[in-house]
Amino acid sequence: MENPLETIALNGGWLCLDFINTVSARLPVMGEEYLRSWDDFRIWVKRAAVLPEEERRVWDRLPESNIEEVHALREALFALFQYAAQHGALHPEHLDTLNDLLHEVYPHTRICLTPDGLRRGVEKAPHPEKPLWLIALSAEDLLMGDRLQRIKACDNCGWLFLDTSKNGARRWCNMQTCGSQIKARAYYHRKKRL
Ligand SMILES: [Zn+2]
Repeated sequence: MENPLETIALNGGWLCLDFINTVSARLPVMGEEYLRSWDDFRIWVKRAAVLPEEERRVWDRLPESNIEEVHALREALFALFQYAAQHGALHPEHLDTLNDLLHEVYPHTRICLTPDGLRRGVEKAPHPEKPLWLIALSAEDLLMGDRLQRIKACDNCGWLFLDTSKNGARRWCNMQTCGSQIKARAYYHRKKRL
């Protein structure tokens, strides 16, 4: 059977939000866990193109690390960005896990001149946890970029996404799947009242 991570939707619009969306749903209750093992994480790292392909192949052959650390980072980021989606603000306690990881990551980073300007990159040497470092840097980038008001949770499934629509009124992670489900439900309730 195909692993759901091989074709999982990447609707978050930002690496760390797609990482948070690696459970089938957050609403109405926590859905199916997709990252059950380090091998699942390997599949997702490929799907989300976290590493350049050549580097990913090298990384793929490294010994596995602890999937519980992956879950801990994901749930810490979920708490942080879910709060932002609800309140348009941050809760200072939610920054602790991210700060701890960034403290680990920074010695491995370099500021590099790229065609798109200055970027913070992670040095090339492969390390099992490098995808987590890149996710942490992506979360830092999102937090520092003055986009908090644009972080939303899908009305239907609770997945998080960055709303880049012109009017900032996007309500669903995906119009085809979640948007149409909500609309069908609203129609059903309207009819019931007639
Ligand atoms: Zn959704």
